Amino acid sequence: MGLKKAGAILFLVFMMMLGSVLPNPLAGSGKDPEGETGSPYGLATPEAIPTPLRVKAAKDSPVPNEPRETRTTPVDEHTVDRGEALKDDGSTDTGKILAAEKADDKGKTDKPLSGKVICVDPGHQSVMIIKKVPVAPGESRTVWDYSIGTRGVETGVYEYAVALRVSKKLRTALEELGARVILTRERDDEPVGNIERAEIANAAKADAFIRIHCDGSDIPEARGISVLYPGSRYIDDNDMLEKSLTLSEFLLEEVVKATGAKNRGLYERNDQASFNYCKVPCTLIEMGFMTNPEEDRLLNSESYQDKLVLGMVNGILRYFNATGTGNNSG
Ligand SMILES: [Zn+2]
Repeated sequence: MGLKKAGAILFLVFMMMLGSVLPNPLAGSGKDPEGETGSPYGLATPEAIPTPLRVKAAKDSPVPNEPRETRTTPVDEHTVDRGEALKDDGSTDTGKILAAEKADDKGKTDKPLSGKVICVDPGHQSVMIIKKVPVAPGESRTVWDYSIGTRGVETGVYEYAVALRVSKKLRTALEELGARVILTRERDDEPVGNIERAEIANAAKADAFIRIHCDGSDIPEARGISVLYPGSRYIDDNDMLEKSLTLSEFLLEEVVKATGAKNRGLYERNDQASFNYCKVPCTLIEMGFMTNPEEDRLLNSESYQDKLVLGMVNGILRYFNATGTGNNSG
């Protein structure tokens, strides 16, 4: 192990220790799904602003060019997993996946998502590599490749833990409908960069790339669900862009319907490496605000997670039917 690498690991461990002693909301006000415009640790920054404003600011504010850093080996021997999602809140709502039951009736040979490959991407992770990467292939502007995300103001649970739990539930539901599902990470202490996430979806030739995140704000009252879709600044594949928007629209509609959460709308994003390196239809859902005490509790309850998954599944089914790529033969 070289001195430089040892130093980087020490720095990482230090930052994680720092993160575990910092009080909320300092420890995680995730104003950026990829942490690209602020600190990779999701620390509160002076430019902290509510989501809709942030989206615009992030698109317009220039980021100074920085030299591209070389990728280091993942430091998986130094793992910190503080994400321990809460157990069921005791609610009797079982959040049934209605579509899945319907599919079972039809039998294994005729499931609505048979032949579909879906890549599900649980946002963030507990272990990071500090490096910046070009925001899009060949671009000089750089963004953080790793970020820790936001954190529950009430539960203390990290966004990466909620994202992984919901992603695994979504995988189960989609597999029941016949899809082949690939997760970009299986554990919280698995460092996966934003470019790598897109490349996993590309390599799988995924029919859809679904990125799972939670939101954060310095305003405790901020709440609701928004969905991000890739913009055309660095992507010239119009078919991919149109499909991504359609997927995002259906996802937002159905998840809001299933949860009753506030609809915060759709946001075009040009500043996300996971979008700009992606070659397949993609979307990112912000499932709610972990900086809102009530939504934090909901996001950590089994029953609410099931509602989110139900909405996502129905949105994905609508997408495949609307784009004529569904497997429904009636
Ligand atoms: Zn996030």
